[in-house]
Amino acid sequence: MSTTAPPTPAKDQELNPRLAAEARYSEAAERLGLDEGLKKLLRVPEQEITTYIPVVLDDGRLEIFVGYRVHHSTARGPGKGGIRYDPDVSLDEVRALASWMTWKCAVVNIPFGGAKGGIICEPTIMSKGELERMTRRYTANIFEFIGPELDVPAPDMNTNEQTMAWIMDTYSMHRRHTSTAVVTGKPLDLGGSRGRPEATGRGCMMVTNEALKRFGLRAEDTRVVIQGFGNVGGMAARLMVEAGYKVVSVVEWDAAVYNGNGLDIRKLLDYRQQTGSILDFPDAENIRREEALFQPCDVLLPAARENVITSKNARQLQCKILCEGANGPTTAAADDILSEMGIFVIPDILANAGGVTVSYFEWVQDRQGFFWNEGMVIDRLQEIMVAGFNDTLRYAEKYGVNNRIAAYMLAVDRVAFASSLRGIYA
Ligand code: NAD
Repeated sequence: MSTTAPPTPAKDQELNPRLAAEARYSEAAERLGLDEGLKKLLRVPEQEITTYIPVVLDDGRLEIFVGYRVHHSTARGPGKGGIRYDPDVSLDEVRALASWMTWKCAVVNIPFGGAKGGIICEPTIMSKGELERMTRRYTANIFEFIGPELDVPAPDMNTNEQTMAWIMDTYSMHRRHTSTAVVTGKPLDLGGSRGRPEATGRGCMMVTNEALKRFGLRAEDTRVVIQGFGNVGGMAARLMVEAGYKVVSVVEWDAAVYNGNGLDIRKLLDYRQQTGSILDFPDAENIRREEALFQPCDVLLPAARENVITSKNARQLQCKILCEGANGPTTAAADDILSEMGIFVIPDILANAGGVTVSYFEWVQDRQGFFWNEGMVIDRLQEIMVAGFNDTLRYAEKYGVNNRIAAYMLAVDRVAFASSLRGIYA
């Protein structure tokens, strides 16, 4: 519902992603007893660039777009993080997302730091040519800021394989040699990795598999509700059903469907492809979107957007396991309620780290010039996701904290250790 009244400060704060990231970081650093200097060091980015990007539009007008790239930490390796094109991009948001990447890479123990980039633009009204010119000029402007050993961008909101191909080509033209390892999420024929499109959804399933063992649940007896039927949610749904799970409900921005015996996900994907929506899917009943997340289930997998579970609605959840496929679906205020309710949370920085992990594999393969088959990608992803899950649970038990704070503590501990081993260069 839209309103002309200004939002209350409390609500504003609860939904602010930067404050959410900071709240969790501060609690983790505090509980670890992190040295005050290190605490300050890891709170701020290492470097950030604001760049003005001139683009000649198709109608001949010159437009200037504003872009950013932020390196939060390169203590454990090159920066890693996506580039988003969106009207709501802001430096503050890019900073928060860059720090999120630092923690995510550290939780799964891959040798990357955290970075993020974005351009303020409305990609849905731009032509392919305009997007290409904007992407190439942005790449040229941040040329000294990216590189296989320095900072490795990837796709994010409204950017894709094609965007990565343009960045790789522009970077390579300036370097005077082809450098595929400068970005990940590339097309397979340009040094992309097998298994990348499925990686995030697959990673979600792998950590859910581990959580089921703690509940003595078998996939066949596990009812799953998924919000968001895109790359993460759609893939997770397909793979989970193939593994025997019962995906009973899928919730999209315009509709929600339910089948207590489990949805036929392949059919639902085809149906959405043909009709543009999941509404009125023949083998299911339409249910109210507003209630869909709060129906009884074993696993709830939000894979759409941030701030879905808040202090206002957390108490209505009826799941045993919350696997956060999306980034930031739960606010910091809701975390306490979920802990009280005993819901087993697989926090986003662990649950959706399968994507960045296979990006890491892509970077390794590009640098070696030797490409793996899908089985190798899946086996190595499994090893890393399970280790990240077990390490997180070990921290939760050791420090008596919830899984989210445990994941942050694990990550902050790893980055702080690397930073202190390296020391401060003066
Ligand atoms: P996507 O655009 O492919 O899919 C998102 C889906 O959510 C779309 O089908 C969209 O219609 C639906 N949606 C949007 N608003 C909704 C709403 N209010 N209610 C229900 N459904 C809604 O995006 P994606 O790549 O799947 O990313 C989803 C989330 O996962 C984001 O938070 C993203 O940051 C995070 N994530 C993605 C990856 C990845 O590899 N793609 C990796 C890590 C995290």
